[in-house]
Amino acid sequence: MADPKGFLTTPVLLWERRPVEERVRDWHEVYRPGALLPVISAQAGRCMDCGIPFCHSGCPLGNLIPEWNDYAYRGDWAAASERLHATNNFPEFTGRVCPAPCESACVLAINSDPVTIKNVEVTIADKAWAEGHAPPRPPERLSGRTVAVIGSGPAGLAAAQQLTRAGHTVVVYERDDRLGGLLRYGIPEFKMEKRHINRRVAQMTAEGTKFRTGRDVGRDLDATKLRRRFDAVVVATGATACRELAVPGRELAGIHQAMEFLPLANRVQEGDFGADAVSPIDARGRDVVIVGGGDTGADCLGTVLRQGARSVVQLDINPRPGDDRAPHEPWPVHPKVHRVSPAHEEAGAGVGRGEHGRVFATSTLRFAGDRRVRALHVAEVEPATRTPLPGTDAELPADLVLLALGFDGPELGPLADQLGLEADERGTFLRGEGYETGRDGVFVAGDAGRGQSLVVWAIAEGRSCAAAVDRYLTGETTLHAPVAPVDR
Ligand code: FAD
Repeated sequence: MADPKGFLTTPVLLWERRPVEERVRDWHEVYRPGALLPVISAQAGRCMDCGIPFCHSGCPLGNLIPEWNDYAYRGDWAAASERLHATNNFPEFTGRVCPAPCESACVLAINSDPVTIKNVEVTIADKAWAEGHAPPRPPERLSGRTVAVIGSGPAGLAAAQQLTRAGHTVVVYERDDRLGGLLRYGIPEFKMEKRHINRRVAQMTAEGTKFRTGRDVGRDLDATKLRRRFDAVVVATGATACRELAVPGRELAGIHQAMEFLPLANRVQEGDFGADAVSPIDARGRDVVIVGGGDTGADCLGTVLRQGARSVVQLDINPRPGDDRAPHEPWPVHPKVHRVSPAHEEAGAGVGRGEHGRVFATSTLRFAGDRRVRALHVAEVEPATRTPLPGTDAELPADLVLLALGFDGPELGPLADQLGLEADERGTFLRGEGYETGRDGVFVAGDAGRGQSLVVWAIAEGRSCAAAVDRYLTGETTLHAPVAPVDR
């Protein structure tokens, strides 16, 4: 156990964000690297090493949290890294972007602040890279079996790393020009710098995983032929079919899906448009409205603030947290674990050139404009039914509108047709208890089977699917399988 009285004697210390005025002028991560180091061992010492560690089950990966808290408390970073990597291929990703369900499950959260598990995780992971505790681990012998992984998001990468390390020859096919899926082109640089993905890809390449970018399976490559060439195929293509807003005026210029806007902003950071270039969809000097109050909307918010929007309003059809909740959300978020997104902190500080606001319980009626959007007509909604309330119509100025309304599921195109994949009632690819589909040797992992979710679930599914594939290929497996497809 870490410090037996740590939870009584050590006050919680959160990872300080860089000042708003500083961070909105650049694209670096909002947290200062290394700032946690002087305090993190004491913070890890707050762990009570509970008889039943609820944090294990709170984390989809089943992370061995009390064990690595203890090593971090003692300053044994090599052992902490070994325990952390035993259940998580990419803790530097989850340590940055995970909403940390483990902290909601921490027993200390009942009447105090939970252990800052995510901060301990990211410190162990960053120290592992800095001190050489994350070397490539190529397999000792090859199995002679081959696996194609389609999609290089966290699910595909985790499955590929597990299967490569188990001795199989793995080729990852990715339709984009770079690897990482939504980690690369969805999540903005200020939440997670892309160098973290590049470093993992280099590690995986050194272990023997092969990568083929710019290959849209189903279009550039026949998926049926791929299935014949490989002993097994893992489909990890994500759930990227965006929800639409079918209201009058949607066809006007200046209205974009968030996932048209965010990838371009990320490409600017990659240097694709040249030094000091602006994005082809840029918010500088514009009145922006973001439709959708979730994480994707928050990522759009942080991005338009950095681009220099004149004003920005974020619309959310849900009531303000704490106000009347919709019938399907009867419980409030525990105040100890509810955190304000850094982007909302930036908007609240009024950075940039104009007015920034967040409007709840509001729906979109129609867009107005002449070729290009000029305004958005909205109305307040009745919280339970979400129907517009008469007499509440208002007009918001808008010459850039970003739609962040969520995702319907995976794209059902030629890949699904060629592999004979079926969609379930939620629109995601149908699979069984072992991630298997109706097609022999074809498996589905991550958002493609689960629907738009979290990075931690994608990694957990990638690991579990790899165990299922290993068993399919060899008749047995020792690979870690933390979740079943039905787990939520
Ligand atoms: P994806 O990451 O979607 O990767 C799928 C990959 O498959 C893509 O690279 C795609 O190009 C490729 N592909 C698709 N079809 C083909 C084909 N036919 N041939 C070849 N390649 C193909 N989660 C968090 O935990 N924290 C966050 O802060 C967070 N922020 C988010 C922000 C945004 C804007 C979005 C959209 C999502 C966010 N998420 C976040 C969710 C998280 O990113 C996803 O749940 C996770 O990336 C899913 O991983 P995946 O591997 O299943 O799919």
